[in-house]
Formats: sequence, structure tokens, C-alpha cells
Amino acid sequence: MTDSSSKSQDPEVWDLVIIGAGPAGLACAIYTGRARISTLILEKMMAGGQTTLNDVIENYPGFPEGIPGFELAQKMADHARRFGARMETAEVSGIDFAAPPMRLQTNAGEYSARSLLLSMGTRPRRLGVPGEREFYTKGLSYCATCDGPLFAGKQLMVVGGGDAAIEEALFLAGLASKVTVVHRRDQLRAERILQERAFAHDKIEFLWRSVVTRVIGDSALRAVQVRDVATGDEKDVPIDGVFVAIGTVPQTDFLPPEIQRDEGGFIITGPDLQTSVEGVFAAGDLRVGSYRQITCAVGDGTLAYRGIFDYLDKHS
Ligand code: NAP
Repeated sequence: MTDSSSKSQDPEVWDLVIIGAGPAGLACAIYTGRARISTLILEKMMAGGQTTLNDVIENYPGFPEGIPGFELAQKMADHARRFGARMETAEVSGIDFAAPPMRLQTNAGEYSARSLLLSMGTRPRRLGVPGEREFYTKGLSYCATCDGPLFAGKQLMVVGGGDAAIEEALFLAGLASKVTVVHRRDQLRAERILQERAFAHDKIEFLWRSVVTRVIGDSALRAVQVRDVATGDEKDVPIDGVFVAIGTVPQTDFLPPEIQRDEGGFIITGPDLQTSVEGVFAAGDLRVGSYRQITCAVGDGTLAYRGIFDYLDKHS
């Protein structure tokens, strides 16, 4: 492993490259930095991943009043940097495991690594209906915290019935004149405390057993077509903005086939979070079996550190 005195210089071959600066990757980097494992974090956007999309996070221990997702992400990134992790903006497009060290192709050049942590997380699932792509940024959004303030006083729709959808509806209800939650069943999946708040909110309405089948507009989004899943009846609902929150999909498309995944693209790991390729670990929401909570991602990052430490120790 790299000597702590050379920590400020970029090694030619990093002990560990972490792909994705979400809570899993950042937690791991805190541990590897303290263990003097030279650590490079590659992130295509900004640190924090899905965490940054949360207006307020109320279930991360230590913050009884809640903490904005963006702030928590920044604190985690500062924490990782404090112990020597280097962070760079780069999108990884390919990985070559043919011979050690592993080589990563990115839009910012090539990097070499003795070990790898895959912690790219997930991205919002698309509706897959006509008009969705066309009206993205023209009234359709996947992030209420990012785009909600543009819709103050407007009539909005949130699609989905999970934690993300109900959190978004509650956040938007503070800005909008009305929020309609469209859900395909007659029961929410969101945790009970969120359901209670949404049902009690006078600006939030529900359209049950319904799915969005088309997004309609001209230069901006004007309406959505909604189908009643029980009767098959369709109707147009005039609306100013639509926020889609129907779950997430793992960002694992660019990985080579050697990294085993399930049919949904989630990465299969052993108990030490090592993947099907020796020296390559996976942590956080993109892993099969992840409970997809920030606390769990942090736990995964910590556990992955253990495996990475042992692997590097054996192969140094
Ligand atoms: P999720 O829990 O998977 O919920 C997705 C919702 O969208 C479900 O209600 C689902 O309906 C619906 N849905 C899925 N595909 C659909 C489609 N094609 N058309 C219409 N509706 C569809 O996803 P999430 O809310 O994004 O949450 C992801 C993970 O992050 C979860 O583990 C969640 O607990 C976690 N999270 C936690 C918090 C928090 O702790 N406060 C906040 C945000 C996210 P069905 O219910 O019928 O399946």
C-alpha cells in the first residue's frame, strides 16, 4: 500500500479507484484514506449521488432536526478529502481487467488501479411513455428539490407511491397550489410517517390505480394522459409540471460482462462485497440485496473497505 508520505502526489497506479462519490464510495474513502491506501474517487457529476436530491434527510443518525441532502453529501465529501482521498470529475466508459493493474477508460483519460470499488448508485427510472423525453426540462422532471422552485403557485403532478414520490409531493406542496399524486395501486409503498403527512396535507390529492400513458404539450408541458388501470379509461389531466419518482435503476450499463449482474442490472457480490472479478468490490444501491438507504450505503462502504484492505494486503 502507498506510504503516507507520498499521499499528496498522484501515484501512477492507485491502490483503489472508487467509481461514484455517493455515500457508499465516500464512506469507503474515509476508511481507506485513514489506512493510507491511495484512493482516487471518480465522479461524473457531483458528490452525493441520489442523496443530493433529498430536500431534507430525516433518518440519518446524528441529525435529529434533519439535514439537507446536499449538505450531508458535501460533509461526506469533505470528510473523505480530509483523510487524503483525491476526487476527480470523470465519466468511466470501460474497464480492462486483462492483466494487472486494472485500467479505466474515462472522458478525462486513463487511470490504473490495483483494486476497484463500484459505487455508481442508481438513476431515476423513466416512465417510457410518448412525450417523456420531449418534455424533460420543459415541465417534466425527475428531481423536485432541483426543479420544484420553478413551479411556485402551479398545479403539479407526482408519479409514484414510494418514499421518493411522497417526499417529493410534500416538498412540492410547500410551493405549488396543488399536487396530485398518481399511483398505479390503491396503497402507497412509502413509509408510514410520510403517508400520514401526505394524507393530512390540504394541497395533496391522490389519483389511485392510475398510470401516465402520454405527456402532452407544445413549447411546454400542458397535460398528461392518464389511464385507470381497472377500467382502461383514459383522460387528459391539465397540469403545469410532472415529477416522476417511480424508482431507480442501477448505473451499471458500461461494466464489462465479467462483472456478474442480475436481470435488473444490479451487481452480485459475496459477503465481503467482492464481485465476480477478484479485486473489484461493489457497495450501495447498485448491489443485489441493498436496502437502498443512505445508512445502508455507508455500511456497505465500510464493509467494502475491509475486503479491499485484505485484498491489497494479500496482493502487495
Ligand atoms: P421505490 O420504493 O421502488 O418505489 C417506486 C414507486 O413507483 C412504487 O410505488 C411503484 O409502485 C411505482 N412504480 C414503479 N414502476 C412504475 C411504473 N412503471 N409506473 C408507475 N409506477 C411505478 O422507489 P423510490 O421511492 O425511488 O425509493 C427507492 C429506495 O430509496 C427505496 O428503498 C426507498 O426506501 C429509498 N428512499 C428512502 C427515503 C427515505 O428514507 N426517506 C427517501 C427516498 C428514497 P408499486 O408500489 O405498485 O410497486
